[in-house]
Amino acid sequence: MINLKQIKNPMPEQDPVVRAGNFKEVAEGYTPQMAINEAMRCLKCRKKPCTKGCPVMVRIPEFVAKVAEGEFEEAYQIISETSALPRICGRVCPQENQCEGYCVQGVNGEPVSIGRLERFVADWHAEHESDCCETVTEAEGCSCGCSGTSADTPHGNCKKVAVVGAGPAGLTCAGDLASKGYDVTVFESLHKPGGVLAYGIPEFRLPKDIVAAEVAKLESRGVKFINNAVIGRSETVDELFEDGYEAVFVGTGAGLPSFMNIPGENLLGVCSANEYLTRINLMKGYLPEYDTPVQKAKRIAVVGGGNVAMDAARCAKRMGAEKVYIVYRRSMDEIPARREEIHHAIEEGIDFQLLRNPVAVIGDENGYVTGLECVEMELGEPDASGRRRPVVKEGSNFVLDVDCVIMAIGTKLNKLILETTENLEANERGGIGTDAGAATNREGVFAGGDAVTGAATVILAMGAGKTAAASIDEYLDK
Ligand code: FAD
Ligand code: SF4
Repeated sequence: MINLKQIKNPMPEQDPVVRAGNFKEVAEGYTPQMAINEAMRCLKCRKKPCTKGCPVMVRIPEFVAKVAEGEFEEAYQIISETSALPRICGRVCPQENQCEGYCVQGVNGEPVSIGRLERFVADWHAEHESDCCETVTEAEGCSCGCSGTSADTPHGNCKKVAVVGAGPAGLTCAGDLASKGYDVTVFESLHKPGGVLAYGIPEFRLPKDIVAAEVAKLESRGVKFINNAVIGRSETVDELFEDGYEAVFVGTGAGLPSFMNIPGENLLGVCSANEYLTRINLMKGYLPEYDTPVQKAKRIAVVGGGNVAMDAARCAKRMGAEKVYIVYRRSMDEIPARREEIHHAIEEGIDFQLLRNPVAVIGDENGYVTGLECVEMELGEPDASGRRRPVVKEGSNFVLDVDCVIMAIGTKLNKLILETTENLEANERGGIGTDAGAATNREGVFAGGDAVTGAATVILAMGAGKTAAASIDEYLDK
């Protein structure tokens, strides 16, 4: 007999058949009553294991208790003590490996839906933000800490800081520095801020008005954004110092696509997931009023098993592909994407070709893709990452009949900043080298997020931005 307290309150979602034809958000969010019911599942554990599972140590049991009492604004205040982007993290964090992975309710049932509650609280706050600010004057500031008035732009200290890259690391760093009164300018190479939140993660997982609202909040707090500025090309980090910036934070991510180096990868119809997703998300290729060219193939193979692969496959379905494969060389137990994305992809009809690995892309006489030759794999001994190593089954070659192949096998660090900043040292992964406080070997230069770690997560990038802001404040306050 199932004890209802042991399972999560379900999230209202768009029907899979309907949503596979649109880009509207899949998960529709808890109602206040659903949130209260879910929060009441919390056991109020004395040792608070969930908090230890959160990279930025959100005080989870405390905020969940406020939700259970219906005190949503107080819950928001608790979350925002440590998390700069809760509307985003509530939607995209891999909670199953973080907070929810440590939740005691998960031992005999399903963990408390900490991510859904975080999303609910942050959305509730955003919806009611203007109400809570109506009663405060510009001079006194809003006690809720929202962007409604000057509450969180305390006093200018005239010190200029440059932030390079407007992804979660850069945005968080900029926000924390603005709160401390610094004069912050963010330089972004694309035409819109947001980093992966804007160009990578699709609208149906993370509506872009949420990202735009976070950017607008920063602007209202005095942060300046200069888009279409490729630091290392338009000007270097060293030139930023000459322009009067007293510290520079580098949060340029790891957006350089990787390819497999197999025969046929240069055929027409092969592209990187980053390019495909950028055309669809940032350049709005899914909207008929935009003339962005996007591959509109009928049969698509997406190679990889991470969030990027799931996003590309689910976009392909929504762009009208009849058949979409995920080709992944390990099994479902090792696949790295968020569980929710895998579940949604299966519901939407994506065909998972597990324990399969491409060996060649096949094309016709005009250079267009006509198939993807793969081999079957089996799992051997664990490798250095602890995951079982995929081994080729000899003679198992077969061809998937596709007219487009999207490579989503990971991204690399772009070396531009390292190559153009005098004496800036790299770490052993090839990223920008930093100490625990995000300081590089160059005085006044700090770095964080994927640019340091290689491809990771939004919350880790956000945490790095926070650490860097605290270190920059300490450095400039000396
Ligand atoms: P980015 O978000 O990459 O931002 C870096 C910014 O710097 C970019 O805007 C870039 O244009 C800019 N830039 C680069 N070079 C320069 C330069 N020289 N001058 C000026 N600007 C520059 N993580 C999760 O936690 N959950 C998910 O569900 C998830 N899904 C993902 C889906 C996709 C498709 C991708 C690609 C990644 C996903 N991730 C996910 C990973 C996560 O988005 C990243 O770890 C995170 O965005 C890293 O943040 P960042 O600020 O370090 O870098
Ligand atoms: Fe509540 Fe789960 Fe955290 Fe325990 S581990 S306090 S049940 S959210």
